[in-house]
Amino acid sequence: MMTALNTQVLARAQSGMRRALASRLHRRALTVAPVQPLVSFSFDDAPSSAFDTGARVLEHHGVRGTYYVSLGLMGQPGPSGRLGGIEELRASVAAGHELGCHTHDHLDAWQVRPDEFLASVEANARALQRILPGEHFETFAYPKSGAVAAVKPALAQRFLACRHGGQRGNNGRVDRDLLAACFLDRQQHADLSFVRHLLEDNARTRGWLIFATHDVAADPSPWGCTPGLLEAVVRHALRTGSRILPVREALRAAHG
Ligand SMILES: [Zn+2]
Repeated sequence: MMTALNTQVLARAQSGMRRALASRLHRRALTVAPVQPLVSFSFDDAPSSAFDTGARVLEHHGVRGTYYVSLGLMGQPGPSGRLGGIEELRASVAAGHELGCHTHDHLDAWQVRPDEFLASVEANARALQRILPGEHFETFAYPKSGAVAAVKPALAQRFLACRHGGQRGNNGRVDRDLLAACFLDRQQHADLSFVRHLLEDNARTRGWLIFATHDVAADPSPWGCTPGLLEAVVRHALRTGSRILPVREALRAAHG
């Protein structure tokens, strides 16, 4: 008979196996060797506070970010606050930020069939065409648990790169369909000393560090950060001589 402990051990083994397969199969190499170390800021989902407060912090320093949006949830309330609506998306693109794909329905690739997941990616592209004709998603971020090997080849055909989590930077030869990100959020306890260490390592090794968060608010959700932390991270990134670019532009600069 299956005990609770056995079920837990089995679930952990399945997650480990899924992660290992996603990272080992269908790799598309990218050599990260930029002239200047690279830093990107990305906002997943993305709440209104990321479009106003988050953008204000970046724009104050003359830099831009990437918003990974699920257009099926546009304007709706979410766990990290109300998500951005059409006007916020349009203003963001006009200001030079990048919109990236996060599936139309914020699907977890670990929980749905690959064909459902990919249909939601297609639906997001169609929704973007209705809102901002002529705009295209060029990069992708996995919602929730992350990648599965079965969807990687189809996403590789559609996007220049895909991002997940990992709490680390991207150095040397990496998989462009599984770029790592460091989440700046309360849940990950990402404080400034941890981030400074990452930024200094990234500058020394001339790598590419991608930050991710959700809401940007004085009292953020467990998935968000304060404007003060975001501001401090941007300042420190610039102090280390890093170039701050949206994910799409950073990809082009990654080759040096
Ligand atoms: Zn998300």
